[in-house]
Amino acid sequence: MTYVVTENCIKCKYTDCVEVCPVDCFYEGKNMLFINPTECIDCGVCEPECPAEAIIPEPKSGEGLKWSEINAKYSKISPVITKKKDPPAGANEHLNEKNKFEKYFAENDE
Ligand code: SF4
Ligand code: SF4
Repeated sequence: MTYVVTENCIKCKYTDCVEVCPVDCFYEGKNMLFINPTECIDCGVCEPECPAEAIIPEPKSGEGLKWSEINAKYSKISPVITKKKDPPAGANEHLNEKNKFEKYFAENDE
């Protein structure tokens, strides 16, 4: 089991999560963060810290499985992030936006 970062993080990246992770397993993509599933110790402390409610326990079935694959793939090829930094411009405007994955992810992170 692990936790995963999901769509709500895209273009928000508040980075509150990285400050509390005891094992520094967050990795920074261009417009969202990823959790490395082999490093995450499943402590859960990051989940309530995310203002976007983007962090969830790893889904075991259904559409959510794609987030397991995305976190595993991109955490391996992105730099580690351990310190909070300012969110990107426009983060609050994107906070409750729908379909951010389809709109932004492929273009910016692949
Ligand atoms: S706190 Fe939430 S929105 Fe911010 S970077 Fe972490 S997962 Fe993304
Ligand atoms: S569940 Fe714990 S170990 Fe895993 S990413 Fe969150 S804070 Fe880090």
